[in-house]
Amino acid sequence: MPETFSYTWDTPTYQGKLPSVPVSLLVETTGKLITKISEAVEADVDIAVSVAQKAFDEPWGLRAPGSKRTELLWNLAQLIINHSDELAAIEALDNGKTFSWAKKVDLPFSIEVVKYFAGWADKITGQTIETLEAKFAYTRHEPIGVVGQIIPWNFPLLMFIWKIAPALATGNAIVLKPSEFTALSALLMCELIMEAGFPPGVVNVITGYGNTAGAAISSRMKTEKVAFTGRTLTGRKIMEAAAKSNLKPVTLELGGKSPNIIFDDADLEQAINWTAHGLLWRRRNCTYYIGGDRFGTDGHFVSSTIFTDAKPEMKIVKEEIFGPVGVVIKFTDEQDVIRQAILQLQAGTVWVNCIHESHPGVSFGGYKQSGIGREMGEYALQHYTNVKAVHINLRDKM
Ligand code: NAD
Repeated sequence: MPETFSYTWDTPTYQGKLPSVPVSLLVETTGKLITKISEAVEADVDIAVSVAQKAFDEPWGLRAPGSKRTELLWNLAQLIINHSDELAAIEALDNGKTFSWAKKVDLPFSIEVVKYFAGWADKITGQTIETLEAKFAYTRHEPIGVVGQIIPWNFPLLMFIWKIAPALATGNAIVLKPSEFTALSALLMCELIMEAGFPPGVVNVITGYGNTAGAAISSRMKTEKVAFTGRTLTGRKIMEAAAKSNLKPVTLELGGKSPNIIFDDADLEQAINWTAHGLLWRRRNCTYYIGGDRFGTDGHFVSSTIFTDAKPEMKIVKEEIFGPVGVVIKFTDEQDVIRQAILQLQAGTVWVNCIHESHPGVSFGGYKQSGIGREMGEYALQHYTNVKAVHINLRDKM
């Protein structure tokens, strides 16, 4: 790992450097410093947005054919494959997950998502609509322009890919801020994006804090959309900033609390394995955990934790605990569980006999305060295009 990561994203004006505060974000998971990276402030966001706008107006955006975007995204997928070990190592160092898990889960899924959206890039079509004989009416799905994207720390690479792939497939330019805790894989991805052949300025990564750099992305007049993954509280601030600036559309993937229902006639061994997988990812065939304390003596790790005999009104039941923590509640019958599990399962994803099953072609997103819009699948593309209706008069006279 080099001592410092610096921007390599060369552009005519931006030069990939953050001029304001050169080195101040400390990157650490275990309590030990890995490296220092630049902290962007509002002025840096403005530079990145104008560079992205320039890239969108010139060789990219409306004039880049879909087949070109497909080719570039395929190049990128291949480069991620070639750099899988490096990316997995960065995720392990930076985020704290294991190298083997990053290699087994984060990397293959990231590659699949890039390939999936590469397949869409030359299939972004509108409709022709039958109206009058003397009129030709059709729609075009055009890229939005400069889109802002803000992502969290739990899957730094995967969240980066989930955000950029549909935006690039549809021809947008991007200003993205990774979490201040896990920015390193996004910086390496900048190099790979450039190597894949994307024009300079199409993807711009800003490293910095949420209430400065993140807030600037959501409040700028020239970002035409903002896509966010993170906490509900932060999502609310982003929506407010978007509303107060240019009413930019907002897509939000937020937190939440979902029930995992197990009836007494279930195959309990399977049910426990899937539940453990849902809660703890790293362990499928685990035994019962109590936990509740910190794991090890260094760093920011907690033991896998199960609370038993919880009541629906308790805070640990109602509010998200974003970590390997489960809460067990008993129920008597179907009516009781539906009452406790929030009326009739109003959730964006329902898993039956499994947990965490996901596919690039299947939508992902939440109901209510867990999100607005959908990632993945064809649904994701709708959030990165504007629909233009064209009416052509074929008559000679009015
Ligand atoms: P967070 O909301 O604290 O931070 C997420 C990102 O937002 C970071 O990049 C942060 O710097 C930025 N940010 C913070 N304040 C901001 C502001 N005022 N304006 C703009 N940006 C700002 O979330 P986190 O702790 O990084 O991630 C954990 C949360 O993310 C959990 O609630 C989890 O459920 C949620 N999450 C949801 C999904 C999903 O798909 N629904 C996926 C992963 C994580």
